[in-house]
Amino acid sequence: MSDPAQRAGALLSVDLDAVAANWRRCQAVAQPARCAAVVKADAYGLGVAPVARALAQAGCARFFVATIDEGIGLREVLPDREILVLNGPLPGTEADFLEHRLIPVLNAPEQLAGWTAFAAAAGRKLPAALHVDTGMARLGLELYDLWQLAADTAALAALDVILVMSHLACADTPGHRLNHGQLSIFHTARSLFPGVEGSLAASSGLFLGADWLADWVRPGAALYGIQPTAAGPNPMLPVVRLEAKILQLRDVDAGDTVGYGATHSITKDTRLATVAAGYADGIFRSLGNRGCGHLGEIEVPLVGRVSMDLIVFDVTEVPADRLQPGAVIELLGPHHTVDDMAKAAGTIGYEVLTALGNRYHRRYLGGGAP
Ligand SMILES: *Cc1c(COP(=O)(O)O)cnc(C)c1O
Repeated sequence: MSDPAQRAGALLSVDLDAVAANWRRCQAVAQPARCAAVVKADAYGLGVAPVARALAQAGCARFFVATIDEGIGLREVLPDREILVLNGPLPGTEADFLEHRLIPVLNAPEQLAGWTAFAAAAGRKLPAALHVDTGMARLGLELYDLWQLAADTAALAALDVILVMSHLACADTPGHRLNHGQLSIFHTARSLFPGVEGSLAASSGLFLGADWLADWVRPGAALYGIQPTAAGPNPMLPVVRLEAKILQLRDVDAGDTVGYGATHSITKDTRLATVAAGYADGIFRSLGNRGCGHLGEIEVPLVGRVSMDLIVFDVTEVPADRLQPGAVIELLGPHHTVDDMAKAAGTIGYEVLTALGNRYHRRYLGGGAP
């Protein structure tokens, strides 16, 4: 059997040293607050096991996932770290949290009641984080629910509240008035649970300044190289590199068209490279006639529509000796970041990463590599 990297149409490299360095950067910005890591959605598509191991090695003590199954999977990788489950328990799943030592984030009154009743029945004080909705209207308890809980001695006897948390809707817009409104409601919520640690900031909130840091910050995107700041250079290191191989080269004449729907017309003698990645691999269809790749320093435009398994680049400007089947075109990397591709596709870096397909040959570079 040949080398899988040789067989694969495209190669995805994940730099675990860069993930670890980004975490340390976030920790340095946050201190004296502590930095957790959000590794939901398979560590934003990058592979939760190697990423979480690298983060644990860097010193991260607390991890957030979205779903209980993500928590159960992560528990196998990290036997001795705290794992919090952002979506909280669906009815009847409380015992699974206990079995796998997962800490639920309680978002809704029903989750709070379910976990409290479960703890009381188990006869033990069970840990929980309380998520208060401060203005996003997504998940979270109301201030009123927290106020009721703070006066409920029976419930408090069953719960070990380890964190009061909330989530900012507009942290990527530093001047947004909602930020200050959310901060003030967050302070009120925390005042109901004196002595309990708090957490408000994710990647962008981390860069809003000291007022927003509380005791724990919870970045995800920034760890994976997505720019957390609204302006200026990206303070994070790039983490992913995606290279797709040329399958076929073709010279076409003026008057020809490229791809489904014939959306790109050739106006002069042109060389095309057809490359092994498509929308099934997370190359958004919206990149049709808008995306680009790079061969070394040379930018090559993506022409025509994105197909399921294929895209086509105009490589007329590339010297012929650099073009042959098997040569790679960089789709993500130093010349074209995750944020650049997101902008061209009309989306955000988060969606670019979490859409990365499972047909790529994945390579993990640096610390914690399996
Ligand atoms: C996803 C998520 C995070 C991490 O957000 P980033 O913007 O990726 O840093 C933090 N907290 C909550 C509640 C989340 O849902």
